Amino acid sequence: MDETDAIEITESRDALVGKLHVRRALPRRGRRTVGAWCFADHFGPTRIVEGRGTDIGPHPHMGIQTVTWLLEGAALHRDSLGSEQLITPGQLNLMTAGSGVAHAEQVPGHHRGGLHGIQLWIAQPEATRSSAAAFEHHAQLPRVEVQGAVVTILIGEVLGEMSLARHDRPLVGAERVLHGEATVPLERSFEHAVIVLDGSMAIDGRPLLAGRLGFLAAGREELVLDTDGATALLIGGEPFPEQILMWWNFVARTREEIGAAYVSWRDDDGRFGRVASMLQRIETKPPHWQPVP
Ligand code: MN
Repeated sequence: MDETDAIEITESRDALVGKLHVRRALPRRGRRTVGAWCFADHFGPTRIVEGRGTDIGPHPHMGIQTVTWLLEGAALHRDSLGSEQLITPGQLNLMTAGSGVAHAEQVPGHHRGGLHGIQLWIAQPEATRSSAAAFEHHAQLPRVEVQGAVVTILIGEVLGEMSLARHDRPLVGAERVLHGEATVPLERSFEHAVIVLDGSMAIDGRPLLAGRLGFLAAGREELVLDTDGATALLIGGEPFPEQILMWWNFVARTREEIGAAYVSWRDDDGRFGRVASMLQRIETKPPHWQPVP
């Protein structure tokens, strides 16, 4: 077995987003990106009960695309572009932040019951990261049934089927609901990771439990999954060629850029726009390197 065959398994870190407990699979010490994928928060399954909010008030982003994917429940997205979109399982919300956007996410008021899903970020390359913000909702995504697995293609191409979702770098993201053993073809130029959302599985014979990420370096052509029943997300892409700087909800290249974005949000100067939401804006402390004004 050479270096490219090895699977690197990392634990997720428990974190709190608002009142929602999440398992952060990316970034982790020693594993900052998988292709352009730079952030992954797996939340739930949890029960939504009245008065116990899982709402995330208006907050800004820049330099990334946010991907919201649900296994259970519903979420309402509102952003400063004026988008208002309900998302349910099997659908994709994709927001491109570019130079700046703000959004709020909440469980719709009528929803009771389970909530389970994942939110991921994709770093935008230099060529597009300063461009205008955008939002896409994909109610229908391509779906392929193969070897006892149902594969839903969120972004990129799998087995000749292509998602229409925007991507600024060569990338893939697909959900696999599977029983039994399956050989998954991989794009050789991509690095990949498997994030188990439900159940557990073996990847190339190594156990991978929910909340863990299995990373595979570029150069592989396939991966063998084996499970009694599991749902996993396979993400991948060409290794990201740029060094990114991530602070709070911002992805940039320099501290100056982050500092300027912080000030714009603090002062509500219009850069990130306004979200039509009853929820309270989320504020943050200044970056530690920021001079006191
Ligand atoms: Mn967000």
